[in-house]
Amino acid sequence: MLPREEELRAEICEVGRRVYARGYVASNDGNISVRLDDRHVLATPKSVSKGFMTPDMMVVTDMQGRKVAGHRDASTELKMHLAVYEMRPDVTAVVHAHPPLSTGFAVAGIPLNKSSLAEIIFSLGSVPIAEYATPSTQELPDAVKKYITAHDGLLLANHGALTCGQDLMNAYFKMETMEHFAQITLVARQLGRENLISREEVDRLQGLRDFYGIKSPAPICTDPSAVSGDAITCQFVEAPSSDGPRIVPSPVAPPGLGGAAAGAGAGEIRLTYRELAALIADAVRQVTRDA
Ligand SMILES: [Zn+2]
Repeated sequence: MLPREEELRAEICEVGRRVYARGYVASNDGNISVRLDDRHVLATPKSVSKGFMTPDMMVVTDMQGRKVAGHRDASTELKMHLAVYEMRPDVTAVVHAHPPLSTGFAVAGIPLNKSSLAEIIFSLGSVPIAEYATPSTQELPDAVKKYITAHDGLLLANHGALTCGQDLMNAYFKMETMEHFAQITLVARQLGRENLISREEVDRLQGLRDFYGIKSPAPICTDPSAVSGDAITCQFVEAPSSDGPRIVPSPVAPPGLGGAAAGAGAGEIRLTYRELAALIADAVRQVTRDA
């Protein structure tokens, strides 16, 4: 056993306890891994609660996921972690969990990519959604590969979330940051307003991110056409243009309408389904009475 391996086994258990304690996973969900050396990773075993792991439970595999050491088997989702290590030589640790707020956005198909928090622009940039893939198949690592080149945090459509970093705590803290961002975003939308940081201010924040040397796999971009292709090379942030104010009021799209209604102007009347049905019923009665 490498001298550092013992420490890493203990650190995985600690991250597992935190992930479980914060409700980012239920039951035996989630998995955590860390690079041991150029050719091996240390990973959590399958069918074990991440909140109750002991260092001896971990599995050592090669970069193809073949078990090298351990009494237990690695999770089938380890493939997704290996895809991250393949695409990102700078990454040392990967955390996958199902935090309820982030996963809610992943289920709703709403990426966490609006320019609402300066701190997020500095750190994660934005969090896109990797397309739905059947868990444990090769589809999932393929979906992750597309986005992980430019992002340290991803939502996995109808599944959960994934983060990576220079060490285990760094990868775990990004999961916390993402879930916190999801929570704040949800609250702002429930309050009915989401004032956004202007595109010009986002550019200034990007400049500061560079100045302070904040590590990021790709720069921020605010032009949606920059992320339309197959290879994602920047972190798309949706930010309104503004020559003057740095904060721009943005009407919030009602649930279910996605981005299409997000640009709707003030003064618009929005109806619930019940109100709309009542109006239609009224109109039908009117027409049949007139006929
Ligand atoms: Zn999962």
